Amino acid sequence: MRCEYCQLAQEFTVLPHQIDHVRATKYHGPNTMENTCFACAHCNGAKGSNVAGFDPETGILVPLFNPRADVWNEHFRWQAGILIGHSPIARATIDVLRINDPDCVEQREELIQAGLFPPAVFDMDER
Ligand SMILES: [Zn+2]
Repeated sequence: MRCEYCQLAQEFTVLPHQIDHVRATKYHGPNTMENTCFACAHCNGAKGSNVAGFDPETGILVPLFNPRADVWNEHFRWQAGILIGHSPIARATIDVLRINDPDCVEQREELIQAGLFPPAVFDMDER
């Protein structure tokens, strides 16, 4: 099971992955499969009840990446341990979820060196 935002596999983190409400319950997001996804504790904690963010490049307010509606590979790509956003949605999501925090990047670089990251494209649909 991988975080649907940063792709970190559950096996590489101590804290259990969590159920994230894409649209937070605070904003009447339902407890449905269409509105929930798996997120690591880091991403879910940083996301909180946020549903939008400002694209750091354009300053435009945009919705956050929605794993149920958006295709990960169309928005993001890896550059070593750093996640690069191709779209305003991706850049805002990386910013709000603090996906490129130095600790996260360092962990990813260790996993890359061990040949354990990033996940192959074919298992992107793994939930
Ligand atoms: Zn994550």
